[in-house]
Amino acid sequence: MLLDNPLLSGSLSPESMSKIAETLVNHKKPLILCNTSTEARFDKVSKLAKAFPELDIVMQGTTWNTNRLFFEVMDQNSNLYFDISSNHTNGILEITKKHFGIQRALYSSTWPQKSMGAMKSMVEYADITDADKTLVASGNACRLFGISHNELTLYDDSQCKLDEIALEADAGKPISVPVIDAHSHIGAKGCATNTTIMKFSSPDEIVKKLDRTGIDTTFTAPWSGISYDGIQAGKEILDAYKNYPGRFLGYMCYNPNYPNNLESAKEMILQNPDAFVGIKPYPPSFGFELTDDVMKDWFEFADKHHLLVLIHGGNAHYAEQTDYLSSIYKNATFVLAHCGVNFSIAKKCAEIANKRDNVVLDITITATTRKMVEFLVAEVGADKIVFGSDMPMRDLSPQLGWICYADIPIEDKKKILAENIKRLLDKRI
Ligand SMILES: [Zn+2]
Repeated sequence: MLLDNPLLSGSLSPESMSKIAETLVNHKKPLILCNTSTEARFDKVSKLAKAFPELDIVMQGTTWNTNRLFFEVMDQNSNLYFDISSNHTNGILEITKKHFGIQRALYSSTWPQKSMGAMKSMVEYADITDADKTLVASGNACRLFGISHNELTLYDDSQCKLDEIALEADAGKPISVPVIDAHSHIGAKGCATNTTIMKFSSPDEIVKKLDRTGIDTTFTAPWSGISYDGIQAGKEILDAYKNYPGRFLGYMCYNPNYPNNLESAKEMILQNPDAFVGIKPYPPSFGFELTDDVMKDWFEFADKHHLLVLIHGGNAHYAEQTDYLSSIYKNATFVLAHCGVNFSIAKKCAEIANKRDNVVLDITITATTRKMVEFLVAEVGADKIVFGSDMPMRDLSPQLGWICYADIPIEDKKKILAENIKRLLDKRI
């Protein structure tokens, strides 16, 4: 039985659900709760799970940014299950296996909304056994829904027309062509937090993930830098750069609430020109607008040295500001992130990228919108799209699979995965 939003907001109380719960338990069927991403609902779900411990409850649509509460209700109620379609927190399947049991995670792509391949990659690249992967892919759903595994008809691989890159992703093998991740973060060992839980966030742990997926280099902006202190972030970048040669390059961060740090931030880049690819302003944390006067000097510096400027996008406001800034600072290259959130935003970002030579699009976002890669390649051309993962907030595997499975020529995939960003990096002076 499936319950959608309206019922969830009101009558999920054990009293009103008792007859339904009893019937489902008697028929050995689960209750499926849609859109359980709102934190306020976890308490209701937990009460229901406790009131009916025999009832299996599948939570759909939990997201990485509510895991601090979601993990608690999973820990307290062994009859709760979840689908992985939107819970892309870094290493979610490894976390599930260790803390809750792998039998509690179900594959889902919410097709036709999300790229099926992106979601398959999350399972294939997870650091769990093949038997565990089979449970997530089908075994857990079969058990919960009373489906015989033998009755399932597998799809015919020969009909899929996968190129070499997609075949590697499909097998969970490291991608063998060059791959550069143009948008990531690093944090503390074990677990970093901002408002969310980010496991496996240190450079040591991230390198393991890069190796599993075949990513050569990642361009990172440490969480410290986009949360509070750019200078601290610069030191973290230099440590990662030195400890793992070739694997980490960085975006320098500057918090305009501490204007005395501006010259030190510039100096750090000038002293280590090979370690830094550009700058990452982050207005959501620091309470300023990209177009504010306090940012002028920092953007002028990026322009003077032809640096990358990674812009937190995903909405019309930041897209419009990028349009304006890229018209002024023509020597800097603006990497507009999160363009793949939906087709309306993607269209707006595509208009800007088509208008400005110095704007490229990074699609990373949990939405992993189906047909988005194909749409943007048609709108702006493969030369203006770059791959970014946004790990460790997001697991990088679905973001990589989103590109690898796209229905575009393999030459275009190579451009998006590495060639474009390499070309733009060479512009630094
Ligand atoms: Zn990010």
